[in-house]
Parts: sequence; C-alpha cells; structure tokens
Amino acid sequence: MHNAEAVSLDVTGTLVDGRSVKYFWDVLIPSAYARKHRVPFEKAFSNVKQMYGTISPDDVRWYLPEYWMKKLGIEESIEELLRELKPLITIFPDVKPVIAELSSNHSLIVSSNLPMLLLETVLDDFKKYFLKVFSSVSTYSLPRKTAEFYVKVCSDAGFKPREILHVGDNFIYDFLIPRFVGIKSLIIKRFKLPRRKHEVSNLKQVLDRIKLGDL
Ligand SMILES: [Mg+2]
Repeated sequence: MHNAEAVSLDVTGTLVDGRSVKYFWDVLIPSAYARKHRVPFEKAFSNVKQMYGTISPDDVRWYLPEYWMKKLGIEESIEELLRELKPLITIFPDVKPVIAELSSNHSLIVSSNLPMLLLETVLDDFKKYFLKVFSSVSTYSLPRKTAEFYVKVCSDAGFKPREILHVGDNFIYDFLIPRFVGIKSLIIKRFKLPRRKHEVSNLKQVLDRIKLGDL
C-alpha cells in the first residue's frame, strides 16, 4: 500500500489540450507579426517559424513569449495576446471535478515547462487549488524538467520525493525522471488506451489509484 501526500501535475497534455497552447506559437504570434510588418499570414508564419529555428530548444529563451515578441518586433503587449489565447484554452473535462476533490486532502502542485505567463493564463480559475506552481523555464531557468528540476520542486514545495506523485504525459520528463529522483509517477494517455500498470487515461483513474493506494 503506497500513498501520496502531494500530487504534482504536468499541464500541457495533462490538464489542457496541447493544441490550444500550440495555437499561441503557431497562430497568435505569427498573426501579431503579420499585423506589425504588414505581410500576409503565410509569409509571417514562415518567417516566424524560421526565426524559431534559430535558437535551440536547449536554450531557455526558446520558451519565453516575451523574448520572441521582442525579437520579432511585435509591439502589442503580451497581455493582449494572452487575452486572445484565453478563450481558446481547452481544459480536459475531468480536470475540474478531480482537482477539486484531490485538493481537499492532498497538496497539489504544478510542475510544467510552460513559461509562467502562459501557465497563469492557462490555469486561471484553477490556480486556487494549487499550493505552488513551478515552471522549469521561469522558476529555475531550466529548459526541461530534468532531475535538477524535480529535486528543486521537492525542496521548494517542502516534500520528500517519496511523498509526491507526479502525473504527466511525457514518458521521459513526467515518468522516468521523476522516478529517477524517487518521486512516484504515472503517465496519462489522453488519446490512447493505457496498456501498462503505470499508465492511466484520465485524472479520475489517478484519483482511484490514490484512493486504493495503488501507486
Ligand atoms: Mg505535457
């Protein structure tokens, strides 16, 4: 019988549909670029994509909207773009009831590699359920959720690794690396059937596993 005092959740692909986050980078930023430079969207899209390619995803700047807006000469405020993004964010339907129930007897934390500006827009009404929100890029200047990230999260959230269950959709960054530092972890497969013991298809199943101590 194993249990968890704290539950750490990934965001993109776990709480929200990744396509709505992708829209920010692939549509809203190029649209703002098109308005600024007075070029058609297609031209803006190809210029912006080409610019994205000039920086490595190992560089923390790659993840920061404010960096790209400045680099692309976009003068609109980030708040305006985030306002446009807000209605497009698709939260998976099981999130609200499960988060509300889980938060009544567990500490909830967010462990994401989205920058804090996007995290705050995406979480919005849900933020009140979380004890702490950790962004690898904004909180620790780490481009990915490495072992160093999870060790810092444990220490800053005030839990031992074995007291935390982390749930996310990426095999390496949400499953293997947390386990490597001693955090229990489950993989959420939103669009595929779970096949292995460490896989679930929604947050309700996470709740059931916690209740049964089956972690
Ligand atoms: Mg994810």
